[in-house]
Amino acid sequence: MEIVLATRNRKKIEEIKRITEGMPVSIYTLDDFPGCPEVEEDGVTFEENAVKKALAIAKCTGKHALADDSGLEVFALDGAPGVMSSRYAGDKADDKKNIEKLLNEMRPVKKDKRQARFVCCIALASPQGYIKTFYGYIQGIIGTEPKGSRGFGYDPIFYPESYKRTFAEMSNDEKDAISHRGRASMELKKYLETKMKD
Ligand code: IMP
Repeated sequence: MEIVLATRNRKKIEEIKRITEGMPVSIYTLDDFPGCPEVEEDGVTFEENAVKKALAIAKCTGKHALADDSGLEVFALDGAPGVMSSRYAGDKADDKKNIEKLLNEMRPVKKDKRQARFVCCIALASPQGYIKTFYGYIQGIIGTEPKGSRGFGYDPIFYPESYKRTFAEMSNDEKDAISHRGRASMELKKYLETKMKD
C-alpha cells in the first residue's frame, strides 16, 4: 500500500514511518507531490479538518492519504481553544502567546474546575474517497503557570491525569505513550496491520 502524508511536519512524518515500520507500506509526503494544494483548516471539528485534508490529497495524488488534526479542549471554556488551538491568540500567535491567553482566561477558574483534554483525529482517505477515522484522547488539568521546556504548544501547562509533571517535563517516549496523538496512531497501526493481513 502507498500512503501520502498530508503534512510537511518532520515530526509527524517520522512518527508515521516508525508506526508503519516492517509493514508493506511505502510512505510519501507532500514534498513528493509539489503540485498538490495547501488545504485550509476551516472546519468546526477536528474530524472535519482531518477528513478535508486527507480527501484533497488522496484526490490530488491518486493514492491513499493520511491527515490529522489535533488540539486542546478546556471544559470550563466550553471546549475552547479546540480547532482554534494553534491560533487562539490570533493568526500570527506563537505558543507563548496562546499559553498566555489561555492562562488569563483561566485565572478565575478554581483548581477543581481546570479539567481539559487533548484530542487527535487521524483520517485515512482512499483514492476512491472512502474515509476511516481514528481518535485519541488524553485527559488532564490546566496548571496556573508554564512548567518544563520540552514539547510544543500547550505542553508546559498541561498535567496529564494522575501525573504531577506537565507534558513539557516529560521525555518524548513518555509523552508518546499516553498522548492523544500516540493513542490515535496506535488505533491506526492496529487497523493497518489487520488490513495488511486481508
Ligand atoms: P495540529 O494538529 O498540528 O494542527 O495542532 C494544532 C495545535 O494544537 C497545535 O499548534 C498546538 O497548539 C495544539 N496541540 C496539538 N497537539 C498538542 C500537543 O501534543 N501538545 C501541545 N499542544 C498541542
